[in-house]
Amino acid sequence: MLLLEHDAKEIARDKGVRIPQGVFVARDTVGDLDLLGRGPWVVKAQVGVGGRGKAGGVGFADTPDAVAAFIRANADATIKGHRIAGFRVEEKVSFRHEVYLSFMVDAASRGIRLLLSAQGGVDVEANAHQADAMLTAVAPPGLGALVAAGENLIPALPEALRAPVRSAVAALAQMFLALDATLLEVNPLFVLADGSWVAGDMKLGVDESAFARQPALEAAVRARPDAYPEANFKLDHDFDYVRINPHGQIGLLTTGAGLSMMLIDEMLQAGRQPFNFCDVRTGLLRGSPQRLIDVLRQFTQGDEISVVFVNIFAGITDLGEFADLLLQALDAVPELEVPVVARLIGNNFEGAKARLARSGRPITLEMELDKALRLAVAQVGAAA
Ligand code: GDP
Ligand code: MN
Repeated sequence: MLLLEHDAKEIARDKGVRIPQGVFVARDTVGDLDLLGRGPWVVKAQVGVGGRGKAGGVGFADTPDAVAAFIRANADATIKGHRIAGFRVEEKVSFRHEVYLSFMVDAASRGIRLLLSAQGGVDVEANAHQADAMLTAVAPPGLGALVAAGENLIPALPEALRAPVRSAVAALAQMFLALDATLLEVNPLFVLADGSWVAGDMKLGVDESAFARQPALEAAVRARPDAYPEANFKLDHDFDYVRINPHGQIGLLTTGAGLSMMLIDEMLQAGRQPFNFCDVRTGLLRGSPQRLIDVLRQFTQGDEISVVFVNIFAGITDLGEFADLLLQALDAVPELEVPVVARLIGNNFEGAKARLARSGRPITLEMELDKALRLAVAQVGAAA
């Protein structure tokens, strides 16, 4: 998952990386600019995607009024379909050069890929196809190896950039490794007239499975449930749930990540919109309907959901018992008034059938996946 620029920068500051002074300002306030001296300022929309500058999400302001005006004008904007979580107001940096520098996990080579360009800034994508604009190297995940990889690239840079980039590679490689990050992209890395550098923008990709040993990352995610809804869901409930489409028509209550993704693809091919992905991990239900309730509650936010599709392998769990849990969960979320198509695999299918039938609820039970999928798709009606 990607952290907001503001959160990434504040974490970077704690790791000794130089960043412009800044404050987070919620969408509906103007914030405390006293913290930031006399300006001028940069006001940056906080949203988990890049390219904000070109999308109008980065503004410059010389007065507090201009800061407030930018925030007011953009509070309800979306960038590439993402709602803005707030703004970071920063002291504006006067720079000489914009450098591009990033580190990312490169699974194919089992190492860290380092990318470096003397032509950073908003046009970096346009320049990246020029073979000589982007320098790259892969190194094993250790500070010495990353610094050495940087050393190999640095001679290709203009003289004035070499010393600041050398310093930045060391500091940012250290941060990347210390945080178990998957991505650390600094673009632009500002190089100032005095030869010092400061991280102008920052994208930090973090691995949620490392949170147990990265309390600062977990705390940053916990502090913004609205900006990081899925990561917070996983922290709260200990399973994966991702909303795919707020206008989705089919709510998925499923287990198994791979199979759930396949179901999503099949639904899309049939012209229907799945609302979510999830993997409830049936083996961890432990006789409680809580995980099922957690998912069904999410569906109450989907105004266009017209069917819930359940796909569960119960493993050693008795399907009759699972059917009871499903019924308890449906009872716990009475607002959800949609039919259910359930495909259950495991022991005691007949027991599940009897219990679901006895409940009198609109639940269609089907053992075969293809048929179950067709039933769910048919519930949505004509393709949109
Ligand atoms: P992005 O478009 O989402 O990557 O947002 P950035 O934070 O990278 O900002 C886009 C561009 O705005 C940068 O490449 C800079 O050219 C400019 N910019 C951002 N912050 C500052 C600043 O403090 N001073 C100056 N002069 N320009 C800035
Ligand atoms: Mn940027």
